[in-house]
Amino acid sequence: MTEPLQFNLQEDDLPTAWYNLLPDLPFAPLPPLHPGTKQPIGPADLAPLFPESLIMQEVSTERWIDIPGPVLDIYRLWRPSPLYRARRLEQALQTPAHIYFKYEGTSPAGSHKPNTAVAQAYYNKEAGIRRLTTETGAGQWGSALSMACQFFGLDCLVFMVRASFEQKPYRRIFIETMGAEVRPSPSPTTGAGKRILDETPDSTGSLGIAISEAVEVAATNEDTSYSLGSVLNHVLLHQTVVGLEAKKQMEMAGEQPDFVIGCVGGGSNYAGLSYPFMADKVAGTLDARFIATEPAACPTLTRGEYAYDFGDTGEMTPLVPMYTLGHTFVPAPVHAGGLRYHGDAPSLSALVKHGLMEARAYTQNQAFEAGVQFARTQGIIPGPEPTHAIRAAIDEAIVAREAGEKKVILIGLSGHGHFDMGAYDDYLHGRLPEVEYREEDVVAGLAHLPGVPIPD
Ligand SMILES: *Cc1c(COP(=O)(O)O)cnc(C)c1O
Repeated sequence: MTEPLQFNLQEDDLPTAWYNLLPDLPFAPLPPLHPGTKQPIGPADLAPLFPESLIMQEVSTERWIDIPGPVLDIYRLWRPSPLYRARRLEQALQTPAHIYFKYEGTSPAGSHKPNTAVAQAYYNKEAGIRRLTTETGAGQWGSALSMACQFFGLDCLVFMVRASFEQKPYRRIFIETMGAEVRPSPSPTTGAGKRILDETPDSTGSLGIAISEAVEVAATNEDTSYSLGSVLNHVLLHQTVVGLEAKKQMEMAGEQPDFVIGCVGGGSNYAGLSYPFMADKVAGTLDARFIATEPAACPTLTRGEYAYDFGDTGEMTPLVPMYTLGHTFVPAPVHAGGLRYHGDAPSLSALVKHGLMEARAYTQNQAFEAGVQFARTQGIIPGPEPTHAIRAAIDEAIVAREAGEKKVILIGLSGHGHFDMGAYDDYLHGRLPEVEYREEDVVAGLAHLPGVPIPD
């Protein structure tokens, strides 16, 4: 009998509630702090930026949160997403390991990001908001949010990191096709953008800078909310549809993962895939290793400091407890634009700190080599971000081969790379610089840390 390669759920199998890992964590989460007073913030402090419904999700200790009907209706445009067995990759590696991947590239925007964009647009519309502002790095988040805003009749303003604005015109055009306005960041249209341009007129921008600009516009306009595509608890929460589906699909395959592997920019796709499995690990019913991967040029989890830091460069956001390279750190313009963020989600950072997750960093060429091997065996060209996860999966499959062990490896394939052909072109023609994180960058970044250490 041929082994099945696809594990397809039906529309009826779509999860009807998101899973919140926070009440199941074996340690107490640390609160965010007010940027001025350095005291824990309350829900009221977030009110200028977010609608109340999302703030309540941000601080929720409920294990399950119902997915509203209108959000489910839009999820149904592409969800449930497929889970595949990467049999041809296994064969190429001659490994006894079984490699599965949960593929989020089938969403209209090509990544996992619409899972939260749709939810955020819905709650903002319900709260009477007229417009959302946001930042985008690689353009994936801008694509997702512009689509979601269009579906719910909201205006959308996207500050796009200048490096991507110039490298990836097709992402900008996607966003504009969905009806949103795109400004390259740093822009002269905000105070935060002007300050950066005064100091560094040729700045290629960073997510931290673009966040400051988007937050400023939301904070100074009554009818405008800010929307973040990663890092925050409610964003990770919305992404758990990915892992909840993947759990059912792994059951269909009759296997339990020994490894759950993903890439981490701010942590949302990997948390979305892994938290429903992490619940089982914490409960003692799953003995799996969790590997978070990141670029060597922006090695937040592997080389950053565990400290309170700002989410943005302009020091407007609350201080959050996380692994950070410092909020002034501007990573080299590597192609994995979605992984160029100086911090990571607090819950994911804490899981690494407490030893429940491991982290690994790879250079661009290591990651793209894996991405190309995946493309040539499975036919899917992965986004530059998930090539990092594929690298780790291939490495573990080779370890399994050498040990003669049948390991089960689950990869989060967070998106396709169809808008990233320039990156593949550079890799294939030997033009990808091996940018690694430089000690000067870390020192400059950490010197600006606000100095609220986290006790051990
Ligand atoms: C944005 C993005 C990422 C990184 O963001 P996370 O919040 O860490 O998931 C990873 N992969 C893809 C395809 C993305 O678009």
